[in-house]
Formats: sequence, C-alpha cells, structure tokens
Amino acid sequence: MKKIIQWINPAIRSMQAYHVPPVDDMIKLDAMENPYTWPEALKQAWHEKLDAVALNRYPDPAALPLKDRLRELMAIPDDTAIMLGNGSDELIQILAVALAQSGRHYLAPEPGFVMYRRLTETLNVDYCGVPLRQTDFSLDEAAMLAAIARYQPALIFIAWPNNPTGNLFDTGALLEVIRQAPGLVIIDEAYHAFSGQTFMPHLGEFENLLVMRTFSKSGLAGIRLGYLLGHPSILEELEKIRLPYNINALTQATAGFILEHVHVIEEQCSRIRAGREFLLAGLSRMQGIKVWPSAANFILFRTLNKTAAEIFAGLGQRGILIKNLHGSHPLLENCLRVTVGTETENQYFLEAMQQL
Ligand SMILES: *Cc1c(COP(=O)(O)O)cnc(C)c1O
Repeated sequence: MKKIIQWINPAIRSMQAYHVPPVDDMIKLDAMENPYTWPEALKQAWHEKLDAVALNRYPDPAALPLKDRLRELMAIPDDTAIMLGNGSDELIQILAVALAQSGRHYLAPEPGFVMYRRLTETLNVDYCGVPLRQTDFSLDEAAMLAAIARYQPALIFIAWPNNPTGNLFDTGALLEVIRQAPGLVIIDEAYHAFSGQTFMPHLGEFENLLVMRTFSKSGLAGIRLGYLLGHPSILEELEKIRLPYNINALTQATAGFILEHVHVIEEQCSRIRAGREFLLAGLSRMQGIKVWPSAANFILFRTLNKTAAEIFAGLGQRGILIKNLHGSHPLLENCLRVTVGTETENQYFLEAMQQL
C-alpha cells in the first residue's frame, strides 16, 4: 500500500482532510444554513416540477433558461456574463486552476474563507494571506496595497461580508484594491441575502472584477449552485475548464422553480436577519463575551473568561453545534461562530450560553 500511495501527489498527501463533524440530531448552528423548510403546498408544486425531469438524459449543459431567469431577477446587466458552478466552491476551484502558474501569487485577507487557501494548496502557486486589523477585523488597506505591489497577485479573493468575521469591508478600500490589482479580484457575495450590499454595479467599470454568489446560504445549500458574474471574455476562458454537466438536472429544475417563488426565500432571509439582531442583542448583554457586528447570517464572538473549547463542549452537551474557530488563525483566539437559527433555536442557544 505504501508504495502505491507514493503515486498520490505529495501536495495532496500532506493535506488534512476537510472535516465535517457528525450532527445526529443536534441543533445545527455551524454551517450558515437557512434553518427553515418550505410550506407544504410549495413542496407539492416542486415535486410536480421534479416529476417532469428526464433523469435518463444529460442536463442542459448551458442551463440557459436558469441563467436568463437569474439575469432578470438579479438585474444582471446584458454585457455581464454568467457562469454556473456546483456551489461557489467549484467556481473558486475553476478560478484557482485557470490562473495557476509557477511563481504566481494569490492573495486574500485573513482570517477569511478557508476554501480559497485550501483549493490552492495542491496548485503550484504561492498563497499570501494579509492579516485584517486586530480590533475590528477591518481591511488593512495599506497592507493590502503593499502586498499587491510586492506580489503582483494573479488572483485576489475577498469575501464581502467576510466569513468568519461577518463584517463588510470598506467599499472605498475595496475599490482601491480593485484599481491597483494587476490580476482578477473576486468579490464573494455569499451572504448577499443578509447584507443587501453588492459590487455588481461596478462590473462595467472594472474588467478585472468578478462577483460571485451562491444559493447555499439563502436557503438551498443542498442543491449546490453558485454563480460568477464578470466580463464575457474572461468567463469564456474559464468556461473551457468547467465540466460540461456540472449543474445536474435536479438542481436546474429546483433552482428554476424557486426563482419563480423567490418571495418565500426573501421572507425567510428577512426572518434570519431579525434573528441575527436578536442574537446580537442577547450576546451583547452577556458578561464574559465580546461580540462583533455582523452583516451575514452568523455571528462571531470571543469568550473572555472561559476557553472557546469549554463553551463549545458545554453547548455540545446541550445538543447545540456551533463552530469553534480557536486555533484556525492567530486573530481568532477563543473565538466561536454561531449561525442564526429559527426563533426557537436562537432562544435556546442564548439560554445555554447564559448557563455557561
Ligand atoms: C459558504 C461560502 C461559500 C461556499 O458556498 P457554496 O456555494 O456552498 O460552495 C463561498 N464563499 C464564502 C465566503 C462562504 O462563506
């Protein structure tokens, strides 16, 4: 076995597997999922739509009807191209592969979304993390611009709002990053449904800007669908390495269906935004906790008198799963991230926190 395993790329062998904890029947507040399900009548209508899907056929490789509907609904300008991915994770991977060349650099503020670094690890590229400011996790514009000047990065990833810190970076600072970047800048708007902010209007202004979104956080993590917006001539190149049938027929049908009933998702997201304010207020009142503001569907907080591990374990004993970020980055000492749940789950979480 040892001999055979040697054939696996050493860069892969030295990686740690991406660990997703088992959930059983815990209250799951760890992965930024929408906690709500659909009304029964909507489910019935969806089942009928699925019934018409030809599972024996390959899916539509271009998914044009879905893209058209997206364009209409999200007011995507005609001169902007759309590329679909099996989750935005796949789009990040496509970008990372497409721009990879020995000696090149990719850059992102850190702590940030872990997949940017992870999906670059096996490529022959240097990944450069630029630390956020310590007190409020704001973007260190001077440090970013210095890193851009020094490394001339082919690719810059920016999650906006940022995961796991939940904040929106200053728009002016980001515009300056886009202006000075020699390569592509990806503004990852995975939490757009909760921030209400977008860089989409700037797409026409900058050829090197791409905006990325996903269906995952607003309610459909299970169907795996993300989309990338940008200049047609750039997306045309990226399309060459997209697997032709990456968006399966059930995903296309389901996404098309929900885009006809988008008010359901919008209403759920507005409940989640209200839940976020409820959790923020509750956590802010607690002693021994430092909490940061959030424009996303999760909240970052630090425990001051106990370790994050103790709080994580105590919540676990009460059947609640959140994310312990301690150890993932020096700026996240004793930090934890909780995803906004249903009204009942949020209440239960705050009670458990109070006990702990
Ligand atoms: C969750 C998340 C993603 C991944 O979304 P998928 O579409 O589910 O792959 C991308 N970017 C950020 C910042 C995220 O938090």
